[in-house]
Amino acid sequence: MSKKIQEPYRHSDRLAEPFRRLPGWYRKNHRILPWRDTGDPYDVWVSEIMLQQTRVRAVIEYFIRFRRELPDVRHLSEVSEERLLKLWEGLGYYSRPRNMKRAAGIIMENYGGKIPDDPEILRSLPGIGSYTAGAISSIAYGVPEPAVDGNVLRVCSRIAGNDSDIALAATKRQLERAIREIMRMDGISPGDLNQALMELGALICVPNGSPSCSECPVSGMCTAHLQSQTGVLPVKAQKKARRVEKKTVLLIENGGSYLIRRRKEEGLLAGLWEFPSEEGFLNPEDALRAAVSLLAEGRNAACADGGTGPAAEEDVPLYIERMPDAKHIFSHIEWRMHAYRIRIADPDGGVRNVFDSEKMRFADAEEMRSRYPLPAAFAAYRDPIREEGET
Ligand code: SF4
Repeated sequence: MSKKIQEPYRHSDRLAEPFRRLPGWYRKNHRILPWRDTGDPYDVWVSEIMLQQTRVRAVIEYFIRFRRELPDVRHLSEVSEERLLKLWEGLGYYSRPRNMKRAAGIIMENYGGKIPDDPEILRSLPGIGSYTAGAISSIAYGVPEPAVDGNVLRVCSRIAGNDSDIALAATKRQLERAIREIMRMDGISPGDLNQALMELGALICVPNGSPSCSECPVSGMCTAHLQSQTGVLPVKAQKKARRVEKKTVLLIENGGSYLIRRRKEEGLLAGLWEFPSEEGFLNPEDALRAAVSLLAEGRNAACADGGTGPAAEEDVPLYIERMPDAKHIFSHIEWRMHAYRIRIADPDGGVRNVFDSEKMRFADAEEMRSRYPLPAAFAAYRDPIREEGET
């Protein structure tokens, strides 16, 4: 099958009839979820950002907690970044909540706290792309604007029998144009159509495994089904392989507290807290050396601030123990981790005090649970520590 863009969505013939049927099916069959049917653009916004790359079931609890603590745009604009990241901890992609907070500030300042209904204005806000703008404006305000993501591309490519590469931006633009055209026809509710396509893609016309065509409300009009092409559509170019990064995580412990540090303000997991780590797989001697040098760094920082740090290299005995390996997969990178637990024999906790700063500090299990956002990438080491503290 050719991968060039053909003429798929230049006109909407093959999509129009199925699209007329889908909103009615959606209204009768959709799942009841806490962000649905509220008519509140804030609910649509928060849920759609959370749902990117995360399953519905996992998002429900996050959404309820987030919504309870930050019930509207004003609260979101005023929340501290640390609390915001804590509420988001585990969902990943931490630039998303940061962008939401920035966008909330702009909405407060420029739009009196009311989320705009104009897709173009929405797209100008930080973190809001064409999909989220389409979802907010169509679902909350009834604006005829498509919300096209990978699910919708897959469903439409099958219904229309379209073999364009769905990884190409041009394919998405063509489909958006076609959907917008159909939405402007009488009698098609934009919000219900967008949600129907999302629901169909999540429950019936699924990405992995065979679609459940026998349960599909548009099977009689679906080209891929009628022509037995569900196994080859959609066409999607292969992604580049993920880059593998090897690391050694240092779990430096003193009296039940562990050394954590804040990551840089840019890039992957920007600004979040983490266990210190070194590039590559270190042997125990090198891991100890790295730990000593981190402790010395903290002591020097304390001295520079006028303090008298007690954590001199020679008076902090260290004990080392190998921990299980772990792995974490981001969209483009895979972390493979070795780890050591390194205990400092300093019962008076002088070392802990030296590090009490905004960049590097010791935190106990309770602080890791309730205050410092440590990303899921470290879950293999973070969770047992938090659980230890609960017993
Ligand atoms: S008939 Fe099958 S392939 Fe076509 S849209 Fe429905 S579930 Fe997808």
